[in-house]
Amino acid sequence: MSGKTILVWFRNDLRVQDNEVLTEAVNKAESIVPVYCFDPFYYRHTSFNTQKTGNFRARFINESVTDLRLSLQNLGGNLIIRTGDPAVIIPELAQQYQVSEVYHHREVAFEETDISTKVEAALWKLKLNLKHFIGHTLYNKEDLPFPIKDIPDAFATFRKKVERDSEVRRCAISPAKITTPEITDAGEIPTLEELGLTEPFDDERAVIRFIGGETEGLKRLNNFAGDGNQDKTLKTANSTLGADFANTMSVWLSMGCISPRQIYRQVQQYEKTQGGNALTHAIVLELLWRDYYRFMFKKHGDQFFQKEGFKGEAPPEAANQDELLEKWKAGQTGVPFVDAIMHEIKATGYTSIRGRYIAASFLVRDLKVNWTCGAAYFEEKLIDYSPATNWGNWASVAGVGNDPKENRSVNIIKQAVEADPKGQYIKLWMPELNAIPGKQIHTPFFLTEAELSVFNIKLGRDYPKLIIEPKWQKLADNNASIF
Ligand SMILES: Cc1cc2nc3c(=O)[nH]c(=O)nc-3n(C[C@H](O)[C@H](O)[C@H](O)COP(=O)(O)OP(=O)(O)OC[C@H]3O[C@@H](n4cnc5c(N)ncnc54)[C@H](O)[C@@H]3O)c2cc1C
Repeated sequence: MSGKTILVWFRNDLRVQDNEVLTEAVNKAESIVPVYCFDPFYYRHTSFNTQKTGNFRARFINESVTDLRLSLQNLGGNLIIRTGDPAVIIPELAQQYQVSEVYHHREVAFEETDISTKVEAALWKLKLNLKHFIGHTLYNKEDLPFPIKDIPDAFATFRKKVERDSEVRRCAISPAKITTPEITDAGEIPTLEELGLTEPFDDERAVIRFIGGETEGLKRLNNFAGDGNQDKTLKTANSTLGADFANTMSVWLSMGCISPRQIYRQVQQYEKTQGGNALTHAIVLELLWRDYYRFMFKKHGDQFFQKEGFKGEAPPEAANQDELLEKWKAGQTGVPFVDAIMHEIKATGYTSIRGRYIAASFLVRDLKVNWTCGAAYFEEKLIDYSPATNWGNWASVAGVGNDPKENRSVNIIKQAVEADPKGQYIKLWMPELNAIPGKQIHTPFFLTEAELSVFNIKLGRDYPKLIIEPKWQKLADNNASIF
């Protein structure tokens, strides 16, 4: 061992296991200085009139940092916590603890890379190096069969080549012990109030109370793909309701409480004993999509944040789009399934992939609102917000990013009925429509005033009128065949 000290700057990698930065630092140095900065940049108001981080995610981050500190303490170390600009704090701590290098995981979206560029420049003035690691993806960039600039813009081609020519690396070995210099001022985790937010209210209809941290992430991973639970989530159908409708690992993945490699290895283990099935294959495929968006961000840079995307032409926009956007956010569009999704997102910070897709499609294609406003709203609200995944998916939905099916027209009502044939999800989030039977609950705007009065509902009084002209066909009388 060299006798040197390395500062480990934790960002969206709030874990001890399979954390290459931590493992490398522990192997290379006599002692390490683990640091996490609450950067006010992430708690500000944006030009979209949204919060950069909403209170559900902020709470999740606080819980994750608390858990990380505890894990490091259990290994003999600690976590220094500061609130402020990392470009000031990291160099200050580097000087205070006389470190010889700073390690961190590289991000891909421009705001995040801008922050590390500033930290790098400030360290450089002290003749210190910021060493970048790649720890957020399933496949390391170096192991791809093509340089980033040549990554195919079609996912199918990317997938085929990566699955054929690349290998997922082993998980990093977790440190057994951590040595830090004497830390006298470890610092406190700011309260949500200090971050300018309020404590979120936990709605009992939430699919799950997401608790931040590696400990909870590993529990959830074991719960859906662990040894004792083989019959559970990996075989359940992909619906919209219930705690096991999806594995929901995105929440822990986004803050790096768990790594994609850990999920991949656990799924492999599961398949060894239980055999593969549609869901195990789907998880690995989705992890690849996640990688893909991150690599695409490296390739196309901040074009993903512009409404023209990298296709160069923005979708059409309605003249009254500001008003339509507010109704969409408030869940007052008059389309019950969309409104239910928007209520769920607001009340819990989460909704299924299907919900996100339908809500996003409706905003872009039916309401004709600038999609970047929707993406910024999701950025505020989603617990699992991750720049490349969120903005990449939104750009796809808007047809200005990676999406081979970009010009298809989406029948929102058809999709909604498929996702929620009995209207249970709508009933959960929009109880004012409970009395409407069968599939008609999806299209109250097709019912006459007299028909609605039987259920004691009047549009515009008990539930909003549709905010656009309906472009869907009326339900067949027998409710059987539609659209
Ligand atoms: C408009 C829109 C916005 C989205 N914003 C986000 C976001 O901010 N953060 C986020 O993590 N996911 C986002 N997603 C993708 C997706 O909704 C979630 O990752 C998914 O709900 C996770 O479900 P799961 O964890 O049960 O994972 P699974 O479906 O089992 O997938 C395994 C993992 O793969 C990744 N993944 C799954 N679907 C996708 C996808 N479509 N694109 C890229 N990666 C994927 C996730 O990390 C996920 O945990 C968005 C999707 C849409 C349509």
